[in-house]
Amino acid sequence: MSTDSSISYHHDSAIDEKHAKALQFILDMTKNADSVQQKVLAEILAQNAETEYLRRYQLGGSTDRDTFKSKVPVVTYEDLQPEIQRIANGDRSAILSAHPISEFLTSSGTSAGERKLMPTIQEELDRRQVLYSLLTPVMNLYVPGLDKGKALYFYFVKSETKTPGGLLARPVLTSYYKSDHFKTRPYDPYNVYTSPNEAILCPDSFQSMYTQMLCGLYQREEVLRVGAVFASGLLRAIRFLQLNWRELVNDIATGTLSPKITDPSIQKCMVPLLKPNPELAEFITRECSQEKWEGIISRIWPNTKYLDVIVTGAMAQYIPTLEYYSGGLPMVCTMYASSECYFGLNLKPMCKPSEVSYTIMPSMAYFEFIPHEPSSASLTRDSPPPRLVDLVDVELGKEYELVVTTYAGLYRYRVGDILRVSGFHNSAPQFHFVRRKNVLLSIDSDKTDEAELQNAVENASMLLREFNTSVVEYTSFADSKSIPGHYVIYWELLVKDPSNWPTEQVLNNCCLAMEESLNSVYRQGRVADNSIGPLEIRVVKSGTFEALMDYAISRGASINQYKVPRCVNFTPIMELLDSRVVSVHFSPARPHWTPERRR
Ligand code: AMP
Repeated sequence: MSTDSSISYHHDSAIDEKHAKALQFILDMTKNADSVQQKVLAEILAQNAETEYLRRYQLGGSTDRDTFKSKVPVVTYEDLQPEIQRIANGDRSAILSAHPISEFLTSSGTSAGERKLMPTIQEELDRRQVLYSLLTPVMNLYVPGLDKGKALYFYFVKSETKTPGGLLARPVLTSYYKSDHFKTRPYDPYNVYTSPNEAILCPDSFQSMYTQMLCGLYQREEVLRVGAVFASGLLRAIRFLQLNWRELVNDIATGTLSPKITDPSIQKCMVPLLKPNPELAEFITRECSQEKWEGIISRIWPNTKYLDVIVTGAMAQYIPTLEYYSGGLPMVCTMYASSECYFGLNLKPMCKPSEVSYTIMPSMAYFEFIPHEPSSASLTRDSPPPRLVDLVDVELGKEYELVVTTYAGLYRYRVGDILRVSGFHNSAPQFHFVRRKNVLLSIDSDKTDEAELQNAVENASMLLREFNTSVVEYTSFADSKSIPGHYVIYWELLVKDPSNWPTEQVLNNCCLAMEESLNSVYRQGRVADNSIGPLEIRVVKSGTFEALMDYAISRGASINQYKVPRCVNFTPIMELLDSRVVSVHFSPARPHWTPERRR
């Protein structure tokens, strides 16, 4: 086990005591990872001993790891569905947690097409806040002077609903931005945002983005970092600027606010900022009217030291585009978190995206790891389940699936993320985010699996019946070059009567039918967030998939075991497919989506 002690903990007087304390906290947690984990588990089990769920497993008051592991099963969301449904329906008894469930956090992971509902409790907000409070002190170790300017961060809230039993259900970041922790945060010179709370909290994504962009433009010289939670969000902001700069320039030139901004709280908070600034308007016009947008971020915000966006996992597909628009600014991935639990942070924030490792903070929850053998598909049904290992027992270079036990009442819950151990910080392992299990396609926070894609293709192909046509093969591709990105589905058709070829309109409608069949996070991205573009079907010549198989076999695939890949991104394969495209179709409308759940 190597020990990473490269972070120096000596601090000069300029760094305020709060930051020094945060670094000390990281040191304490990572040095004592195992004992912290033991304590966390004991606390969770003691706190929730009388819950219906834990009583079921007869722990008899034990709070030690061995008893816990031998009695409590490892579960998935689907296993907890009955309990979650009862809570959603209004059962307030202590089912999972001794503390009252304060709200549901809606995950971007779905179950039966709807966002998973993660129960949470009030005190979890404080725990998340602890993790947030560590980010700036770590950043200060690497980038000096962040207190000398501002952060242009594009943050958004999403719609919230109520469960039948009256509990709020909303994404974790929406919950956080609406909490007092965020809204009434004390002034901190290291965390001054250009975006007013009113803009961040505006539920209309256009008005929110418009205002945040306008504020960013007005304060362009003060901006030291530009960011969004995910890379896709920052690219959406760039696209927004491309589409709306003329209107923004008009506001800046005249010192007025576009009539499209109707939210009274935004109108009010913008008054002091809105001053006619013809020079700035001229500058932005000059930059934005250029054909090439290469380096636009550093041209408009010349003092930007880095981009603060997650570009690990599914977001890695956006690295080249972000490099293009930023002129190669460093990209910083600060933390790894989910609706279930906030996990940890990146202690070397200035490293290259491909080298990002997250150190799980042992105080956040109790963590276990299922060894993940890439070949586990070949294990027989009877082979014993792999033994789960503890946080400090994971081995360098190995891959694991993350399992959490939280204060809010998830016990041995499989998150679905695959992580690889890339090193240790003191005794705490650091993880490279490998991927989320079972995700075939992802553009923003949407996650589409193979079964969902299959179902969508089946539903859409119903429209082809009247043309005596079927889809014989298909594959897919997440096109992140367009902004927003979109799904591309390659279809090979069997048209039994060539004189009755499916019409253009019907094939367009097949795109929409596929979108209607995809999960609610996808449809929300299409409808409310504008983060996903219209789905595209590319019809390929008959025989294309055979050529694809020939290609795979020529590269060593076994004929017997060959399966059509349901998602592709390898350039030669894309070229093979694209060279055989006979027609291209886009969804003509947005699919149906409302914040309400279907079930
Ligand atoms: P959600 O449940 O919608 O909050 O999504 C949480 C999931 O997003 C995690 O389980 C990961 O799969 C993914 N995720 C969160 N943070 C990161 C990160 N820093 N890098 C890669 N993937 C992440």
